[in-house]
Amino acid sequence: MRLILIIALLISARLLAAETVNDVSGLNPIQVQAVLAPTSLEQIVQAVRTHAGPIAIGGGRFSMGGQTASENALQLDMRRYNQVLSFNPGERWIRVQAGITWREVLEYIDPYELSPLIMQSYANFTVGGSLSVNSHGRYIGQGPLVLAVKSIRLVLADGRLVEASPEHESELFYGAIGGYGGIGVIAEATLALTENARLERHSQVMPMADYRRFFDQEVRNNPDMVMHNGILYPNDYSTVRAVSYVRTRAPLTVKERLVPADRDYRLMRTTLGLVSSKSGAMMREAALDPLLYKNKQVQWRNHEASLDVRELQPISGPGYSYVLQEYFVPEAELDNFVVRMKTVLEKHKVKVTNISIRHAKADPGTLLAWARGDTFALVLYYRQGTSAGQRAEVAVWARELIDAALRSHGTYYLPYQILASREQFLLAYPRAQEFFALKKRVDPTNKFRNTLWDAYYR
Ligand SMILES: Cc1cc2nc3c(=O)[nH]c(=O)nc-3n(C[C@H](O)[C@H](O)[C@H](O)COP(=O)(O)OP(=O)(O)OC[C@H]3O[C@@H](n4cnc5c(N)ncnc54)[C@H](O)[C@@H]3O)c2cc1C
Repeated sequence: MRLILIIALLISARLLAAETVNDVSGLNPIQVQAVLAPTSLEQIVQAVRTHAGPIAIGGGRFSMGGQTASENALQLDMRRYNQVLSFNPGERWIRVQAGITWREVLEYIDPYELSPLIMQSYANFTVGGSLSVNSHGRYIGQGPLVLAVKSIRLVLADGRLVEASPEHESELFYGAIGGYGGIGVIAEATLALTENARLERHSQVMPMADYRRFFDQEVRNNPDMVMHNGILYPNDYSTVRAVSYVRTRAPLTVKERLVPADRDYRLMRTTLGLVSSKSGAMMREAALDPLLYKNKQVQWRNHEASLDVRELQPISGPGYSYVLQEYFVPEAELDNFVVRMKTVLEKHKVKVTNISIRHAKADPGTLLAWARGDTFALVLYYRQGTSAGQRAEVAVWARELIDAALRSHGTYYLPYQILASREQFLLAYPRAQEFFALKKRVDPTNKFRNTLWDAYYR
């Protein structure tokens, strides 16, 4: 009977033979036993219940350290489990299957003048992958994605289904969100929505030394401020372009409601290539950005939310990869951290393409919270070589940056390359032992694995 069930499951869910999966960075080829792409909750439950070996969970595969796979595991590829389950425009919430992408959510809710309350700066990610890293975007007055989640439905290691929210099964809720697939499969989620406002973009260049005052006076308490980020120019890390998206009634200059799915990005890629070149940082600060931000731009919030990662592609190729790293520090430590970061980056001659400064409100209680108070985030985008030597060099300066963040009572983000020592990880995530204790209780055989937990969970 069990065998028949498994065969039926494999046929209906398209189980493929052993294969190598990778992520967008191209840096993490991992041979898995098989990839299963479920389309129903029953298939997920059956797979978890009947598969004897390890299971890794994959969403859009945009994490950059192999967090969606583990050697010889069964990978659950969630991307075909992507339907809207219920939607209440009046009460502004939506219930979705976790493999749905933000783009698909946006297409569904846009006709109702609604928008996700919190999401990342691109729309390609799955909701399940975003919940599992507890992602964030550029929304002011918001923070980690957990702040926009009403409840989730989890499949635990024994196949049990649990509905978890801040009020009910809260330990599972706060463990699984930001838990990188270590606690269970997030199968469904109910997310808060907000109005799809019309936004006018403003931008202003200032010394880094003035940015915090600017943020306090112009951004933090402005009721019309919807999105904001600072671009810290990597030329000498002393100048910021503050870019704000403010609610307006002005006529639209961008008529499209969403970024067209088939947009041609050739020009954008050429520009990115230029910016990443030797003198690119200077050219960007002095010429390209002043041109880019000169014109008035009024667009829908959903238009800015629907940006496509394709604009950055190719993210990886023979011998190179564009990758991200991210560091979080308490508000008062921003300037100190920037000085320390500059020292490390200059010492190691790191060619940074972009640094984005963002703000996040405190996390309400996830075990692996990266915003343990109101926080500034610094997102580094850079190009690296892929040889063993080049990767080892990156590991050296990344660990120095993690130490710098720790000295500022901050932390670093986990979806990127897994470069931190175990000691650094435990210092950066002080509730990791509570997370591990929860994992041990609900997943005693360590069924749910991936490179992150292979590195740090004992
Ligand atoms: C170009 C680029 C821009 C980015 N911008 C941002 C940004 O603005 N803000 C931000 O916070 N992050 C950003 N990221 C990081 C990205 O948000 C995270 O990697 C996010 O998890 C990607 O979603 P995904 O669907 O690709 O998840 P994946 O990479 O597929 O998975 C991420 C983790 O979630 C787990 N997982 C996936 N689905 C489930 C599920 N259903 N149940 C349980 N566990 C699951 C996986 O096992 C894995 O550990 C960016 C990454 C890139 C490459």
